[in-house]
Amino acid sequence: MNVLTTIAEIRDAVLAAKNNRQTIGLVPTMGYLHEGHLTLASNARKENDVVIMSIFVNPTQFGPNEDFESYPRDLARDTELAASAGVDYIFAPSVEEIYPQDGGIYIRAGRQAQILCGASRPGHFDGVLQIVAKLFNLVQPDSAYFGQKDAQQVAIIQTLVRDYNFPVELRIIPVVREEDGLAKSSRNVYLSADERCQAPAIQQALQLAKRELIESRNVEKALTLATKIIEDNTDGKIDYFSILSYPDLKEVDEHSGQIVLAAAVYIGKTRLIDNLIFSLKGEVAHV
Ligand code: AMP
Repeated sequence: MNVLTTIAEIRDAVLAAKNNRQTIGLVPTMGYLHEGHLTLASNARKENDVVIMSIFVNPTQFGPNEDFESYPRDLARDTELAASAGVDYIFAPSVEEIYPQDGGIYIRAGRQAQILCGASRPGHFDGVLQIVAKLFNLVQPDSAYFGQKDAQQVAIIQTLVRDYNFPVELRIIPVVREEDGLAKSSRNVYLSADERCQAPAIQQALQLAKRELIESRNVEKALTLATKIIEDNTDGKIDYFSILSYPDLKEVDEHSGQIVLAAAVYIGKTRLIDNLIFSLKGEVAHV
């Protein structure tokens, strides 16, 4: 496996694959890999001739008081893990390589980015779209792999691909969890032992709210129940619990097909997100 750090190198690797008529699967990440990322990579491995994983902690998607500086990084460990998942190339550029000058042109996320994480992280999804569009242009993937863990991100990237005609198939991979239900996340390393014990309450709250919603069809009741579970079982602070149609992220009504039940909760200083996507008949839906 090769670790590439420059735009010239990634362009050469992509050109070689295209000349050989090989399909390319792209797995964009911010590194500090865990089983969630590796599941994306093994799906890409099965479905493509060449697998490229980007590892880039993208500064433009972090707010001024967020954790860009302290975000965990370990390229040596990531390189070993990515190789074991069958990745052919890691693309791990510096910030200067990706953003050599102050950009003059930005992509602005639309309505879907005004709510949920977008409400508490202004500009976050604009930064996500900026790096994803750049990666799509550099890597020209046939397929790109994203996790349902970031359900709002998936919905917004689907809109990017549709509105800007990127010739890429989005492949969405279900949330990979710890045994106790906590969604795997690079940020879980921030949790103290006590906070780590509290964190699975987020998934429990989502599960119980889902059951309530299926039984009563009452959004308010389901959200109240979820809130109570977090309040009773953690010292955490709820950023949001929301129930919306998916992927358009609008208010649920009788015509809604898929539903997303999404949460963001601060456990200590760590902001954790999780979600469930299902249809109101109760079965798990495919994104
Ligand atoms: P990140 O490095 O956190 O930006 O994540 C890179 C990609 O991995 C994104 O598409 C995430 O949605 C996905 N991902 C992160 N955690 C998980 C997880 N627990 N299960 C599935 N996919 C995940």
